Amino acid sequence: MTHRSTAFRVVYLGGLGRSGTTLLERLLGEIPGVAPLGEVVHLWARGVLAGEPCGCGEPFPACAFWREVGEAAFGGWTRALAERVLTLRHRVDRTRRIPRIAHPELAEYAGTYQRLYAAAAETAGARVVIDSGKHASLAFCLAAAGVDVHVVHVVRDPRAVAHSWRKTVERPEDGRPMTRWGPARTAAHWTAQNLALDLLATRGVPVTRLRYEDLLADPAAALATLADILGLGTALPFLTGTTAHLTTAHTASGNPMRFTVGPVELRRDDSWHSGLPRHHRHLVTALTWPLRSRYGYGEAAA
Ligand SMILES: [Zn+2]
Repeated sequence: MTHRSTAFRVVYLGGLGRSGTTLLERLLGEIPGVAPLGEVVHLWARGVLAGEPCGCGEPFPACAFWREVGEAAFGGWTRALAERVLTLRHRVDRTRRIPRIAHPELAEYAGTYQRLYAAAAETAGARVVIDSGKHASLAFCLAAAGVDVHVVHVVRDPRAVAHSWRKTVERPEDGRPMTRWGPARTAAHWTAQNLALDLLATRGVPVTRLRYEDLLADPAAALATLADILGLGTALPFLTGTTAHLTTAHTASGNPMRFTVGPVELRRDDSWHSGLPRHHRHLVTALTWPLRSRYGYGEAAA
């Protein structure tokens, strides 16, 4: 074997969808030495099997970056590999297993991710790879299998999250609408995912919590603090005031913002104040207590 042993670290962005994980991945991904990979958990079905586009716009199988990563990690992407990982995911990587992740196939499952991360780090020449997979269960699997992972736990006011999950959003990949949830379902998922990520912090895994609202209140300060914690220095050359200059990122899957290139004004989206129906707001406010208060989200808007 002639593999160079490259020291690299995995930064895993956890949190419920629509909490700002894609935005954070795009921002951290502009720091030199960082390779943003998107939601790797969906790479197998959406990238390898369905051939959906990479963040660079090329179909996954045609993207030169991912082709090189696949060659280095697995001797190429195959349907059999993707189907095997999806089978393992179904058996091993389940939210209900979180309190005690232990499974005879855990090592194989997490090992596949580790090989992918290592190959991506080497291909990109990166010290840090970002997986914005969001689900706490995969973070538990990686940590339990000994992968060097630092989790950034992104939280957002549950009323804003509920408002976002109500909206009809078209997937740029195939024009189909993204999943929509009602307020009770969003509140249940919000509580479950956030509690799980809090639990992870008690298991010896480095977890840094970041509120979406704090990120957008002062992007430069929030990003510099986070980058410093992650060992990435504090220089943010892509940021001018509150404008981020985004370049192409080879993200395998994720929300539509992964395709954005060019200047992006970092502004907090508070459209839920007027857009979320009153009874939804009351329901989510009630159902997410007391965790909501622990994160600093009161009865009224944060
Ligand atoms: Zn690409």
